[in-house]
Amino acid sequence: MSGFVFSEKPIRIERGEGPYLYDDSGTEYLDFGASYAVTPVGHCHPDVVAAAKDQLEELMFVQASYPNDARDACYEKLADVAPEGIDNVWLCNSGTEANEAALKFARSATGRQKIVATQRAFHGRTMGALAATWKQKYKKPFEPLAAGFETVPYGDSEALAETVDEETAAVIVEPIQGEGGINPAPEGYLEAAREACDETGAALVFDEIQTGLGRTGDFWACEHEGVVPDILTSAKGLASGLPLGGTLCRDWIAEDAGPHGSTFSGNPVVCAAAAATLDVLVEDDLPAHAAEMGEYLHEEIEAEDLPIRDVRGRGLMTGIEVKRGSNRLLRDLALNHRILALPAGRSVLRLLPPLVIDEEHVDRVVGALSETMGASTES
Ligand SMILES: *Cc1c(COP(=O)(O)O)cnc(C)c1O
Repeated sequence: MSGFVFSEKPIRIERGEGPYLYDDSGTEYLDFGASYAVTPVGHCHPDVVAAAKDQLEELMFVQASYPNDARDACYEKLADVAPEGIDNVWLCNSGTEANEAALKFARSATGRQKIVATQRAFHGRTMGALAATWKQKYKKPFEPLAAGFETVPYGDSEALAETVDEETAAVIVEPIQGEGGINPAPEGYLEAAREACDETGAALVFDEIQTGLGRTGDFWACEHEGVVPDILTSAKGLASGLPLGGTLCRDWIAEDAGPHGSTFSGNPVVCAAAAATLDVLVEDDLPAHAAEMGEYLHEEIEAEDLPIRDVRGRGLMTGIEVKRGSNRLLRDLALNHRILALPAGRSVLRLLPPLVIDEEHVDRVVGALSETMGASTES
């Protein structure tokens, strides 16, 4: 028997350490996609491994209605790093579930139905989150999806102000679109979204599943513009690869969030891994390091004068728009340079390395890009 949803790559990975992955013959790969931003503190960080192991031996699971130290520590640490005013945490098992909860909470707390999302957004693949996701290819075979969704062009403050009204329960936005091509919100857009929600009573939801946890140089990307949402969602690297999503919200949402729940919510082992991950991010000041390394990466890419259309992003969330498709480039990087990266659509190469990388890793990647792109323009 074999899995059938994902197309498999010709490299079998067995082990991970820091920014590296190793295949079954011991070959080392530099993981510059962090398996979709899932390892912010690096693969198998010893503190995270130790915390999960200890908890595994103590108690693997207890239902969320019984308080537990590992879960409480995770709640507390999340509240510590959350933007001011966001003090409530709901834990689940993935990004799409975190967004699903965000949209349910917003509908319940506002008593309204309409949800406004943006073009080229990605919010997940369950029937609700998928309705807020843009790409037709992901949606069409599964329709009908949840109803009540409207879409506006990303970055257009006027369109947002015109569409958000007294019937709107929520506006859901990625501060920098990930899957959609690494598109940073233009300056003032998040603020405009905040205003549109304040004027109408809608809940502002920031999907920080890819942008959060230090990746963009701040702990949350919304901090860059000083805009605080009503609900903030996190997942991906939150527990270094153990499945965890979080829906963080203000009191007015939590007080009237409605009857939501999930059996695995706040699993103690996953919570212990998350608490350790958050500790490493804070103690090693990894958001600041990501800002510095991101700047260096952008400088080096520009200095190299690569044959590209654009480079965008912030911190260690970088998109390089290439002239031809990104597939062949990704393959060359993996097989000839032992560097693993990601696509974002057909023409964008997406770099989301662990935040622990150093200049030597950046140099290696930029050198490989230069060689690979040089080679692909000649042939
Ligand atoms: C990955 C991602 C999701 C979905 O997370 P899953 O854990 O795959 O369900 C939602 N929003 C954004 C911005 C993401 O990057």
